[in-house]
Amino acid sequence: MTDESSALLGRSVHRQIRQMVLAGELAPGRPLSVPALATQLGVSRSPVREAVQQLIYEGLAVSAPHAGAKVAAVDDAQIREVLAVRAVLDGLAAAAAATRLTEADLDKLASIIAAQEANLDDATDAARDAQLDLEFHTFLRDASGNSCLSEELARLEAKAHLYRGDLWCSARNRRVALREHRRIVEALESGHAESARAAAEAHVHGLLTRLDRA
Ligand SMILES: [Zn+2]
Repeated sequence: MTDESSALLGRSVHRQIRQMVLAGELAPGRPLSVPALATQLGVSRSPVREAVQQLIYEGLAVSAPHAGAKVAAVDDAQIREVLAVRAVLDGLAAAAAATRLTEADLDKLASIIAAQEANLDDATDAARDAQLDLEFHTFLRDASGNSCLSEELARLEAKAHLYRGDLWCSARNRRVALREHRRIVEALESGHAESARAAAEAHVHGLLTRLDRA
């Protein structure tokens, strides 16, 4: 295999395992067995081993001495820490994105929101709901044009979704989060950086308030 194709395979294996973790298919605390994952994904062990190392670096997995890696768990105290940092960085990303987004970008954000709205009356599907929320925030942080900020936020967003409460998926929380997402998009459409920052911060503060109520 050439260096380039092995790098491509490595990225794809990492993406697949990360997706399984974020969808809860590999739940917090579950061991990340390299041989088992390699068999499941039909690849050799070495890209899986690298992907697991990458997940540890991202904070989505932890390694225990002599016990291999397992999916990280995020408790009540940790989710609050993650969200406190996210509030500031999400605000920064939205402010930067406000002056950069094209019409096509705004259409893309509107289509993610439409997909979230279409699911409102359906039963909770944690994997689908997490995926749509991540899609919204991934698009926004990448649109900030700041790769350092985007990288930090990628870690924090993923980590936040390891929290297993009903924060992301109860019907009520999904409805309120959708309203907050819509306010972010409206602020972005206006092109005002400060309004976008405020709307993005308000969304994360809303998540913190919903945690307190749970
Ligand atoms: Zn959100």
